[in-house]
Amino acid sequence: MEQKIIVAIDGYSSSGKSTMAKALAKTVGYHYVDSGAMYRAVTLFAMRHGMIAPDGTVDSNALEADLPKIHITFATDTDGSQVTELNGEVVEQEIRGLGVADHVSAVAAIGAVRDRLTALQREMGVKKGIVMDGRDIGTTVFPQAEMKVFVQASPEVRARRRWLELAGKGQNVSYQEVLDNVRERDRIDTTRAISPLRKAADALELDNDHLTMEEQMQWLLGKFQEIAGGKN
Ligand code: C5P
Repeated sequence: MEQKIIVAIDGYSSSGKSTMAKALAKTVGYHYVDSGAMYRAVTLFAMRHGMIAPDGTVDSNALEADLPKIHITFATDTDGSQVTELNGEVVEQEIRGLGVADHVSAVAAIGAVRDRLTALQREMGVKKGIVMDGRDIGTTVFPQAEMKVFVQASPEVRARRRWLELAGKGQNVSYQEVLDNVRERDRIDTTRAISPLRKAADALELDNDHLTMEEQMQWLLGKFQEIAGGKN
């Protein structure tokens, strides 16, 4: 009988995990879910509704009360890429900017936000055949995932990649601003009380500081074939 698996890819900001997860899903015919996009969409909602003070404090009570009004979905763009929708509006570009990046880790530290998004993410994995990337996928969302990967790279390498990506999209930010953001998100993500970013005990480690995307994909596909073997 055909049996699909769940692939959980976790790691630090801009470690290249989304690119890997997307490519793996496409190659093996699985669904791809970008859990970070969901946290980013909730953050955009909070920003638009004045729930984030100029000093970065999030009004968690107001956000928790409005959570039932937040609907996040994924659609396919004309070029085949996946785009994030907030209450039916495509917000893909907006959620990728530094404005959202500056606040997302604070929003993602709120228990009610995590509970809601974790429940949604679990629903998406009911039928398996899914590759999901994030920070707590292998530890909290799918602790039973058959394949778990933990991706690491130095903050400087990650900031450089992210800076090049933002510059390519025409966003005028300095490398230092991006590096500061990457470091600050690492700090908040690894130290928060609920589901902090950490490697699951049974996750495979991938340090991609010195690997090309092609090398990473070869490694990932090899592991997938080993684990999914006859199952998929
Ligand atoms: O993956 P990405 O960088 O888009 O994630 C944005 C932010 O969302 C992370 O810095 C983290 O604060 C939060 N996040 C999370 N748990 C996840 C995915 C993302 O807390 N599973």
